[in-house]
Amino acid sequence: MSFADLGLSDELLRAIADAGYTEPTPVQAAAITPVLMNRDLIAIAQTGTGKTASFVLPMIDILAHGRSRARMPRSLILEPTRELAAQVAENFEKYGKYHKLSMALLIGGVNMGDQVAALEKGVDVLIATPGRLMDLFQRGKILLTGCSLLVIDEADRMLDMGFIPDIEEICTKLPAARQTLLFSATMPPPIKKLADKFLSNPKQIEVARTGSTNASIEQALVTTTSRGKRETLRGLLGADDVNTAIIFANRKTTVRDLNQSLQRHGFKSGEIHGDMDQSSRLKELDRFKAGDINILVASDVAARGLDIKGVSHVFNFDAPWHPDDYVHRIGRTGRAGATGKAFTLITDEDAENIANIEKLTGQKIPRIEGLKAEREAPAAAEERRPASRRGGGERSRPERDRRDSVAQRAPAPAAEPIANDADAAWNGPVPAFLNQRIAD
Ligand code: AMP
Repeated sequence: MSFADLGLSDELLRAIADAGYTEPTPVQAAAITPVLMNRDLIAIAQTGTGKTASFVLPMIDILAHGRSRARMPRSLILEPTRELAAQVAENFEKYGKYHKLSMALLIGGVNMGDQVAALEKGVDVLIATPGRLMDLFQRGKILLTGCSLLVIDEADRMLDMGFIPDIEEICTKLPAARQTLLFSATMPPPIKKLADKFLSNPKQIEVARTGSTNASIEQALVTTTSRGKRETLRGLLGADDVNTAIIFANRKTTVRDLNQSLQRHGFKSGEIHGDMDQSSRLKELDRFKAGDINILVASDVAARGLDIKGVSHVFNFDAPWHPDDYVHRIGRTGRAGATGKAFTLITDEDAENIANIEKLTGQKIPRIEGLKAEREAPAAAEERRPASRRGGGERSRPERDRRDSVAQRAPAPAAEPIANDADAAWNGPVPAFLNQRIAD
């Protein structure tokens, strides 16, 4: 099947070709035609499947005719996080370049005056997080009575974040005769209830089994201890095929501390978490996308659904508490045909979390052995020395070397091999780190 078979306009086909896409992904092939025919839709699809284009593309053609009126958006897309909302806006820009659609982004953390001014002019597409939308609605800045198309994206994520009551309220403000599209990676009962209440005779599609992980992601659990985690992680990062990596931690403080520690060890890392304001989060993301940094330490909420191309590795510094988060996290790699690797550092306390993950994904994840304790290494000692004694800001040579070669360096000569009796369970290449100790 090609994009031309789906009933999209020539302008859109041109924009798709410009973006370099030759074939629709399964969710696009299944969703686009029914959406163009104004059907309601429930799509069970994870991020990374091309689901954003599956609603953005038909929406552009649907909205191509007709005019917007002041304060009355013609369509509304609800997203759980600001980053996702910004990403959807980028998709509209990419695919809508041969159309003249107006768009506004209503997200927390950016100037409300500009957002209100855009709304006043009238918009075809409003992309919003529920909190900011409700806020402006209550101030009388928006009328949703002209909104004939609603997209609820990442509905299960909205549920986790407590947005369902807001979404229900928003749904009641829209005209009853509208088209509604709901996307969710999983279909827990509250989402099913929401769909039953607000969608009418929806077409249902499912592109990946609930909780399934992408086959193009090689996964491993790396056993370690709390004290051995950082060194194990540095060793894995030092393996020669890590180009770009996202490292997930469960707590914001861990994100911050780990990023600082990695920087002290000469890695080009940055951080993104919920305590940062919108502009610093976007700035950090831009640095990652531009390659100024190649490691991003992230919390779950801040990284939800981020579309960052070519991430070679995902590391779970902490095993996620919720099994769904595991699927979401490792979905940052192995996207749209590329292969990726996902390593999860686990300690004895994580046994239950891991059992839940393996139950959800229906897969036993191979285990390999990391370091059990943080070794007293020169760099670790360096890290503890006051900055004033580190040669006036000039980095030591080994540290400079490490910093400059995170992506390319070959592992240092072996000091002493690490016992690795679980090798046989690991299908992918064994990271160099596990056979050769990194001289730290
Ligand atoms: P999404 O699931 O919407 O987050 O999209 C995941 C990634 O797939 C994004 O990087 C898209 O740019 C990319 N993508 C979307 N549609 C296609 C397509 N038809 N062919 C190849 N890549 C695509």
